[in-house]
Amino acid sequence: MLLATKLRLGDSNTMMAQGGIQAADKPNDSPPIHYLDVIGGGGFNNTPELVNALVRDAPEAIVWLEDLGVMFDKEIDGTMVTIHGGGTSRKRMHSARDYTGGEIMKTLRDEIKNRGIDYIEFSPAIELLTDDGKCTGAILYNLETDEYVVVRAKTTILATGGAGRLHVQDFPTSNHYGATADGLVIAYRAGNPVIFMDTIQYHPTGVAFPEQIVGLLVTEKCRGLGAQLVNNDGDRFINELETRDVESAAIIKECTEKNKGIKTPTGMLSVWLDTPMIDIIHGEGTIQRKLPAMYRQFQRFDIDMSKEPLLVYPTQHFQNGGITVNEKAETKVPNLYGAGEVDGGVHGRNRLMGNSLLECIVFGRRAGKNAALKEKKIERGKLTLQHIKRYHIELKEANIDADIMSPMLLPDYRRKETIARMIDI
Ligand SMILES: Cc1cc2nc3c(=O)[nH]c(=O)nc-3n(C[C@H](O)[C@H](O)[C@H](O)COP(=O)(O)OP(=O)(O)OC[C@H]3O[C@@H](n4cnc5c(N)ncnc54)[C@H](O)[C@@H]3O)c2cc1C
Repeated sequence: MLLATKLRLGDSNTMMAQGGIQAADKPNDSPPIHYLDVIGGGGFNNTPELVNALVRDAPEAIVWLEDLGVMFDKEIDGTMVTIHGGGTSRKRMHSARDYTGGEIMKTLRDEIKNRGIDYIEFSPAIELLTDDGKCTGAILYNLETDEYVVVRAKTTILATGGAGRLHVQDFPTSNHYGATADGLVIAYRAGNPVIFMDTIQYHPTGVAFPEQIVGLLVTEKCRGLGAQLVNNDGDRFINELETRDVESAAIIKECTEKNKGIKTPTGMLSVWLDTPMIDIIHGEGTIQRKLPAMYRQFQRFDIDMSKEPLLVYPTQHFQNGGITVNEKAETKVPNLYGAGEVDGGVHGRNRLMGNSLLECIVFGRRAGKNAALKEKKIERGKLTLQHIKRYHIELKEANIDADIMSPMLLPDYRRKETIARMIDI
């Protein structure tokens, strides 16, 4: 087995995830109730069998992570602390303070090293290899040596994550630098359909000030704990626990159509997130105890979020759509599997908080198990790029003149405002 990754092992959106992971494992909750929340949040467009897999495997996923060593927040009697997220009808968000993804990734990374699993860093997959339509491996590009590496594989799993760094509609993003939709591109060229590509999720509370961290996330957990969204008149304009699409739309409307936004010193429009409410509701010290990473992130810029509200605006956060898979994580290309944010269908047109960490664990485990079982039953195939030839013929027939290189791997991340301020030296 070989794990190839684009940057360093662990550089990922998972590492950055803050708020938590959902699982219906409390007495007042159940996978069917979780199912209804996921489907409702997704606008009833979700692929039902994928949602079924997600919610049914969720309690076991939490047990698996805990057994590996993930330290979830617990009550004094040892029961898991669970809280609400936007659009959840029960408190089912399990977290490790506000660095849940970091805690999970650190544990999984240790596990990879402890089990002696081979991995290769700075080596993104740039194309799949096929034999008569079946996936037979991938071509990697070594970012350090500029060499191409051919990897022969009986089964291949794509877990390349999302697309935030493509900065759709010029929005800032919360995503890590490797999130450039590579898996979507290469799976599509190999013949797998993609769905809901128009449904990028904008997280309502991206940082609008200070400028150095514009786009980074202010976790939804803040609103879960009682922080309120407030316009320039000091008025609340939305229930803070609506789904993300509703929240983001309300903030954008407040800043544009209603002209009730607050301008940051660099001219960006924003609204207040009244974080001091958290300590007022739950007692002094709650922010430092429950949101330590977030507190430190602002403290570095002399902003004490327990005393002052924050300025926020929606940020490009998640790719709701992606490549199609079935409940076994199989794509339509034989021997190719997909797991995590690269997949589409689980969340329909809108994901709820905490279901994406869950998705990458549930479908990662399903993809791993099914790929391992399949690998035992098949022969190695030839290594060809037949599908690329076919793809170019299709482009020509459709009169598409595509001169953009893809996958983009590491595009220019500077925003146009930054480039405009550059000084010639
Ligand atoms: C700031 C932030 C906070 C979040 N908070 C939460 C939360 O609280 N709860 C929740 O459920 N979800 C949250 N999410 C979403 C969630 O973290 C991600 O959707 C999920 O972790 C994605 O997992 P993944 O394994 O699919 O992708 P990633 O974790 O992004 O991993 C993809 C990996 O593939 C690598 N890669 C990319 N392209 C290639 C290539 N061509 N070849 C080889 N490797 C490649 C990347 O470098 C990366 O290591 C958050 C996301 C962000 C950005």
